[in-house]
Amino acid sequence: MNHSSELPTLSMVVPLLNEEEVIETTYATLKKYLDHLGETYELIFVDDGSTDRSRAILAALATIDRSVRVVVLSRNFGHEMATTAGLRHARGRAAIVMDADLQDPPEMIARFVAKWREGYEVVYGVRKERKGESFLKKATSYVFYRLVARIADVPIPADTGDFRLLDRRVLDVYRRFQEEPRFFRGLIGWIGFRQVGIPFVRHCRAGGRTKYRYSRLLRLAFDTITAFSTLPALIVTLTAGSFALASFAGCAVAVLLWMFGAMVMEGWMWASLGFLLLWNVQFLSLAVLGEYIVRTHRHAQRRPLYIVDSILEYEREELEAGTRHDAEMTATLVCHPSELCEIRR
Ligand code: UDP
Ligand code: MG
Repeated sequence: MNHSSELPTLSMVVPLLNEEEVIETTYATLKKYLDHLGETYELIFVDDGSTDRSRAILAALATIDRSVRVVVLSRNFGHEMATTAGLRHARGRAAIVMDADLQDPPEMIARFVAKWREGYEVVYGVRKERKGESFLKKATSYVFYRLVARIADVPIPADTGDFRLLDRRVLDVYRRFQEEPRFFRGLIGWIGFRQVGIPFVRHCRAGGRTKYRYSRLLRLAFDTITAFSTLPALIVTLTAGSFALASFAGCAVAVLLWMFGAMVMEGWMWASLGFLLLWNVQFLSLAVLGEYIVRTHRHAQRRPLYIVDSILEYEREELEAGTRHDAEMTATLVCHPSELCEIRR
């Protein structure tokens, strides 16, 4: 941002952890692209509990450049929370989230902004190629994204990262989310509005090493599936249901055969039938409990019930205060017969 009193058009949000090798290069590169863009901007770096010189470097940048703001977290809260913190501090009319290692090409910023100007509220990068990443990482993420795309309750486009632009309307909704753990890309997919992807090639890191170990990726994958899909619980319920049906039918047939003298039932057979029935009742009870837990879990996420994009009607008065519901986020599009549409928030 050029003048601290004015709100910037664009907020760049860069979460980072121990990135002393790259911060200065990233800063200089971003400045170059942003100055060229001709929009007012602010650079928000979120220090996610770095233990190297990152904080000192950021502090130095903030003292020489008024467009730099540094949000220092009290410890390492993880990439998703660092991103959330940065977005909450963003004051721009749109924000772009970007990694600190220049794997996300800054030349995409101008293209994101152009799409935003066309009216898209979310513009995300789609990785067509990933340089400098191991075969195992590429293969696991390939499978993960396709699995998530299939089972998630909301559209989560494949091969997208956090590198994306969010309009102020999306930012305002996102800041209301309370859920933890959270999967940023999933929640943005949940929010909806007009979204568009632009393909790009992901570069190698400009320096330093990845902060994501496989254990952390596994955790993220598990959190994502449980936050955005109820399919695992449904699989348990269906399995328990089919087992129960088959075993109840089997028991009934055995008893009938025994009653009509077609089968001799020995003591151990009765005992086995008893255990089978008991085991199935237990499995079924677990599945039922699981279904209730899913509901509790959904409630605990406390997402808004729905988000209104726009209300199209002629009478402006009818839309005045009082018609808004608590659990409803509104960004209203009021259409007058003789005027162009205007966005009201
Ligand atoms: N990061 C963070 N907190 C963490 C881990 C990572 O803020 O706990 C930052 C990291 O500094 C980088 C971005 O998140 O700016 C992406 O991390 P990284 O490059 O290590 O992930 P990769 O690109 O290898 O998936
Ligand atoms: Mg990276």
